Order: sequence, then structure tokens, then C-alpha cells
Amino acid sequence: MDKNKFQVIVVGGGLAGLISSICLQRSGVSTLLIEKKQYPFHRVCGEYISMEVKPFLERMDLFPEHLNPAELNRFKLSDIKGNIAEVKLPLGGFGISRYQLDDFLYQKAFDAGVEVKTKNEVIDIVFHDNEFAVSLKNGEKLTSEFVINAYGKRSKLDKTFDRNFIKKKSPFLGVKYHARIDFPKDVIGLYNFKGGYCGVSHIEDDKVNICYLSRRENLKGHGGIAEMEEAVLHQNPILKDIFGKAEMLFEKPEVINEISFEQKASIENHMLMAGDTAGLITPLCGNGMAMAIHSGYLASSSIIKFYEGKLKSRQELESEYQNVWKKNFSKRLWVGRKTQNLFGNQMRAGLSVQFVKNFPSLAKKLIQQTHGEVF
Ligand SMILES: Cc1cc2nc3c(=O)[nH]c(=O)nc-3n(C[C@H](O)[C@H](O)[C@H](O)COP(=O)(O)OP(=O)(O)OC[C@H]3O[C@@H](n4cnc5c(N)ncnc54)[C@H](O)[C@@H]3O)c2cc1C
Repeated sequence: MDKNKFQVIVVGGGLAGLISSICLQRSGVSTLLIEKKQYPFHRVCGEYISMEVKPFLERMDLFPEHLNPAELNRFKLSDIKGNIAEVKLPLGGFGISRYQLDDFLYQKAFDAGVEVKTKNEVIDIVFHDNEFAVSLKNGEKLTSEFVINAYGKRSKLDKTFDRNFIKKKSPFLGVKYHARIDFPKDVIGLYNFKGGYCGVSHIEDDKVNICYLSRRENLKGHGGIAEMEEAVLHQNPILKDIFGKAEMLFEKPEVINEISFEQKASIENHMLMAGDTAGLITPLCGNGMAMAIHSGYLASSSIIKFYEGKLKSRQELESEYQNVWKKNFSKRLWVGRKTQNLFGNQMRAGLSVQFVKNFPSLAKKLIQQTHGEVF
């Protein structure tokens, strides 16, 4: 047997990549997972996971009960001036750091027999003669019958594949902290500021995640992140209070740039795209992690069906994945893009707070539109 040849190579070990490789290997499909970094590591993320994925994770013995995730079921929304509305979340969610969750799933992938290469970056993938040639930065060359790309919202590979969204500049940056602060255990707070919004909610070990998305122009005229927070975020009295009282647990925040919410394709040159690589939902929906887990499951299911003979050709496999992806995620992504326009502007954010206050059941329906069914 050629040790450099696999049935499936999964690129990127976030939630989509970890879940798909575990599902594949447990079904007897030889899988290599390649991750650029080394676990455990922090990522910019609000770390609120919609409950829609909990039954699946439990069924697969992948729910990290022992890490005591926080249970979150109340949603508080404020406009820029700090006026607040509250609604009970229809489904709710749980809070756990990516540092812990991804490392836990990495161990599960390892236990399942997935071959994992960490601290390895994929620099090119070419489809030729019905197989993929995957090149790593360290010079290694590997081959596989299928590729799942789960390398996240933005990678050099997007340029290599000449994807459309990468040609446009994106105006958003994301910032994350872990902190200790007295904050209600069951609340996910979403607080507007000019040009952005900040989520606050509990994760494990009585820690609180503080994570925001901001237009990059907010940085202009303010020396850096701390100065911008003081000048812009603290205009919202709730955020001023939270940032003032929080004991930040990182030396400096995690920051990412160029976050794009543009439409992307779920198949590119015969490669299956999963998680953010196929499309990032706006963070205010609190749903990107659930979508990454679900799409990782769907991508692996299509490949497993192929090996079981239930899908007869590569073409059938690709069209089945494209269809299930569209059915499960297209509408949510669209609603997320539209809803994001209500945030970061006093008039629209103020109207949203009034809407949640006056029409709580309609607000719950809108939240449901951005979430999927339990699967
Ligand atoms: C500010 C902000 C807040 C958010 N808050 C929430 C929230 O509260 N709840 C929620 O559900 N979602 C949230 N999201 C969205 C969520 O973080 C993502 O949807 C989710 O992380 C997607 O997982 P993924 O597996 O697709 O990608 P990722 O988790 O990004 O994983 C991709 C992996 O691929 C690796 N990689 C990249 N390129 C290569 C390469 N060439 N070779 C090898 N490896 C590579 C990376 O190192 C990374 O580990 C938020 C997003 C932002 C920007």
C-alpha cells in the first residue's frame, strides 16, 4: 500500500474538518486530516453553539459533557445607546471555548484512527486523472480519491483556486477575549456599537467570552484596538461597564481581518467545500459552528454513500452534496446577511430593540430562520 495515498484528504482541522474526518474514518474510509496549526489553540469566535447540533454530537459520543459547557437560553440585545430588549431563545445553545472543543475533537479523531498531520500547510491541490494531488509546504506530495476543503473563512488556497470572493476587500475585523466578570450564566448578550456588535456569554470554567465584529474604518484615527474600544465600543454604556470590569485572561486579544460574508461555492473543481470554506454566516446568528459541524457531517455522508455504492459516480456524489448543502444552509446565510444590516447603526439597531420588545414571538421566529433543524 502507498503510504502517501488516501481515500480522502481533509484540509483544515476546525469543526468541519474534524467532524468530517471522524465520520469518514469511523465508517472505514481511510482519511488524512491536515491542519496548519498545533492543537490546542485559540480562534476568534463567540463560542456560542446552537443546540441544533447537540443530539448529533451526543449520538456520536462527541459532546464534551466533562468540560461543563455553559447552558445559554436567554438573549439580550442592546442598541448603541444601551437600550435593551430580552427574549428567550427558541432552541438555545451551549458555550465552550474552541481551545477546549477543537482539542477534544482532535483527540477523538486520533482515537478513531484518522491520520493527522498538524503544523502542516496545504499549498496546492490539483485534480488530474480522477485523483487529487495535494502539495504541502514542507515539500510532501500526497494523493487521494476525494478532498474535503474545510480550511475556514480565508486561506491562501482561495487565491490559488482563484475564488471570486477573495478578489473583493472585506471591511470587517474580529476580536476576541476570554475574561472573568460577573455576568449572568444563561445569557448571550449582543450589544451594538457604531459599525459593529459585541457578543458576551459564558464558556466553561466560569470564564466569559467577549467577541466583536467591527468595521475596519473604526480603527482609523484610533492608535489601535484598545483605543478603538475606548472611543467607539464604550459609547454603549453596557459595553463600557463590561470592558471596565472584566479581568482579561489573554495578554493581548485574538484578532482577525478581512472577514467576508460573500457567497461561495460548495463544490470547486471536484473538491467538496465544508464549513466557512463554503460560506460564512454573519456571527450575530451564532450559528457558524453548528453549520460547520453539520456540513462536515453532510460532506462525509456523501462520500460514505459513494463507497457503499449508494451513489454511483463522482458526478452523482457532487450533485447530492450540492443539493443537501443548498437545502440546509442557503436560506440561513441569506437571512444572516440581511439581518446584519440592522446592526451597527443607531437608528436600525434601536428599531431592532423595539421590535424584540414589542413582538417577542416574531423575534423568535426570525431567530429560528437563522438556525437549522436538529439532525
Ligand atoms: C467575530 C466572529 C464571531 C463568531 N462567533 C460565533 C459564535 O458565537 N457561534 C458560532 O456558531 N459561530 C461563530 N462564528 C463563526 C465560526 O467561528 C465559524 O463559522 C467556524 O469556526 C467555522 O468552522 P470551520 O471548521 O469551517 O473553520 P475554522 O474553525 O476556521 O477551521 C479552519 C482550519 O483550517 C486551517 N487551515 C487554513 N488553511 C489551511 C491550509 N492551507 N492547510 C492546512 N490547514 C489550514 C486553519 O488553521 C483552521 O484551523 C464567529 C465568527 C466570527 C468571525
